[in-house]
Amino acid sequence: MRQVAGKSKADRYQVYVDGKWVDGASQKTFPVYDPSTEEVIAEVPDCDAKDVDRAVTAASAAFETGGWPQTTAQERGRILFRLAEKVRQNAAMLAELESRNCGKPIVEAEFDIADVATCFEYYGGLATKVMGHVNPVPDNALSLSLREPMGVAGQIIPWNYPLLMAAWKLAPALAAGCTCVLKPAEQTPLTALQLANWFEEVGLSHGVVNVITGFGESAGAPLVRHPKVNKIAFTGSAAVGKEIQKAAAETLKRVSLELGGKSPNIFFADADFEAAIDGALFGVFINQGEVCSAGSRILVEKKIYKRFLDGMTEKAKKIKLGPPLERETKMGPLVSKEQYERVRSYQELGKKEAKLAAGGGRAAKFKNGYYVEPTIFYDVENSARIAREEIFGPVAAVIPFENEADAIRIANDTPYGLAAAVWSRDIFKALRAVKAIRAGIVWVNHMQPTYVEAPWGGYKQSGFGRELGPWGIEEYLETKQVHINLNEQPIGWY
Ligand code: NAP
Ligand code: MG
Repeated sequence: MRQVAGKSKADRYQVYVDGKWVDGASQKTFPVYDPSTEEVIAEVPDCDAKDVDRAVTAASAAFETGGWPQTTAQERGRILFRLAEKVRQNAAMLAELESRNCGKPIVEAEFDIADVATCFEYYGGLATKVMGHVNPVPDNALSLSLREPMGVAGQIIPWNYPLLMAAWKLAPALAAGCTCVLKPAEQTPLTALQLANWFEEVGLSHGVVNVITGFGESAGAPLVRHPKVNKIAFTGSAAVGKEIQKAAAETLKRVSLELGGKSPNIFFADADFEAAIDGALFGVFINQGEVCSAGSRILVEKKIYKRFLDGMTEKAKKIKLGPPLERETKMGPLVSKEQYERVRSYQELGKKEAKLAAGGGRAAKFKNGYYVEPTIFYDVENSARIAREEIFGPVAAVIPFENEADAIRIANDTPYGLAAAVWSRDIFKALRAVKAIRAGIVWVNHMQPTYVEAPWGGYKQSGFGRELGPWGIEEYLETKQVHINLNEQPIGWY
């Protein structure tokens, strides 16, 4: 990423448009922070509709006349493998940058970066497995379905897994033959800009991928409205997802939405007790709870409720909070001041709505940084706001249930449907729950493992469309019907 001398100590970045590093049209920049120190670590261009237009024009030219869709699938695959290789070679640097910028523990960032490389490799391989069909039409004809790239993809992503979300978007789009304009979250643009450094070297020609930085209103919204963008792939909040769907309707863009959740993590009395306690904490506190599939509603069978709550509370109080770059750290700061204030307000609301077992405030030992305590509320009513609204931080709502039917009823009583988990040693009970839960991902005796080979996405207000696996590439493909008449005579109608 080209940096030019800045006015402050922070690195000053440019954006990547049409194969060149450029300033934003307005020349304005905005600061990017280290959430563990609250210091500015970078200045990035504050892109607006003009920059969006430049980037989309470049992506459109790369698609229409630049030859990207005509490259062979083998060539696109090789490019993605080379990009994966760059990520692997630079994994330590990328993990450190990610960890500094979004506050996640370095060990988690290292897992994320490995997953980024795996994602590029997976779609590098899948590029050559996209196949059409021969349709069995009842005529002397050959009927084919061809799979073709959708065109220009506008991709808008959140800050919780910055480079991984970029990879989930870019890899399938490029494998399909689409060109891209990526807008990372305003809080965490640095690793995506770093990735763009390697685009030319791995063989992505000008305009095939463009990365612009900016805010949702001024850079995201014009991308959604732009008439030359054919598809919007969005990951973020349900509120913004609804705005995007409305705006995309103007030009009838294809849209896929990966939104939030309020996922139930269900513990039956017969679950392995120690594994269950661990699974409850991991489900809701990993990545500071800034996880779309966070198991933020912990449903516990009454028979074990008290013991379970005590066990969870005791362990939660020992979670090691610390600077993200320290290897022993299990929980870093939240990503931003805004998110810190949001989570703090839910901690205060929780004290009015339910009983507090652990945490409930700022982590006092840190003078600076957006640190909050891992927080557990119990005896939470499923109708309480802390059980209905996505907090996106380390705040758990523990809810007791009577029996299997009660657990399923509470689990499904939410506008969301992203994920769920069930813990039990009774396979029949666990599988009945799997079938009854309305969610896009259901884990049994685990929560959160995610694989590029398996589909990811939500039911209900958690969005629509699926990422990852073969489902992920489908989101970037159109289907063309081709009919070839094999009769050599005229139709003979008139
Ligand atoms: P967000 O506020 O919805 O923002 C997501 C992205 O959309 C950001 O790049 C944002 O820009 C942009 N944006 C905001 N308003 C826009 C508009 N009117 N038009 C176009 N773009 C706009 O979400 P967030 O706070 O970054 O991330 C947290 C949310 O993401 C949570 O709800 C979480 O559940 C969800 N999430 C879902 C998944 C999943 O796979 N289902 C994965 C991760 C996160 P700014 O940076 O300026 O806000
Ligand atoms: Mg936002």
